[in-house]
Amino acid sequence: MELEDLLEGAGEATEPPPPPPGGIPKQWLPGWIRWSTKWIALPFVLIDLFMQKMARKLVRPPFKQEGACKRRGNCCHYVMIRYSKNLIGRLFFLWYTQFHGFYPRMKKPQIYLGKKMYVMGCRYLQKDGSCGQYRFRPLVCRQWPVIEHFGYPHILKGCGYRSNPPYPAESDDELEGNPLLKIIK
Ligand code: SF4
Repeated sequence: MELEDLLEGAGEATEPPPPPPGGIPKQWLPGWIRWSTKWIALPFVLIDLFMQKMARKLVRPPFKQEGACKRRGNCCHYVMIRYSKNLIGRLFFLWYTQFHGFYPRMKKPQIYLGKKMYVMGCRYLQKDGSCGQYRFRPLVCRQWPVIEHFGYPHILKGCGYRSNPPYPAESDDELEGNPLLKIIK
């Protein structure tokens, strides 16, 4: 299936997409390494999040986030990871696949918003739409939906959040939101 078709239905899907052909790949890194590293990284993630909140209080973005998560899990169906073949890019990929449990849904990277990206699924997404590693979820999941200081809100259709003022400007219906996916840059 083409990326365009996947994204078209991402907001309205009533169940997660099927696993990739051959199933969800196993993580080769031992569990004790993965979880102990995530424990160590957690305070840094929380500090980063806190600093971002403070910055938001000091310089308010033009759009305000309203509403609440409906716990549908749709924003976890497809997560985009920036493609890069250099060492940093490879380590980045390793971190998100081996430590955070993402796996490629498509073999080849795709062009999304003009950039080459991997289309990933998340092994921690539960059938009921909840997160199986909620306390240790990565920063991108804690920040979602993104209300940028410079730019427009990134809110997946029907997720329960909306922006104030509405974006696109002509609609205040959350189902008419800006259908963007989580992007790990
Ligand atoms: S880590 Fe949790 S919140 Fe993030 S994509 Fe996976 S299931 Fe969703």
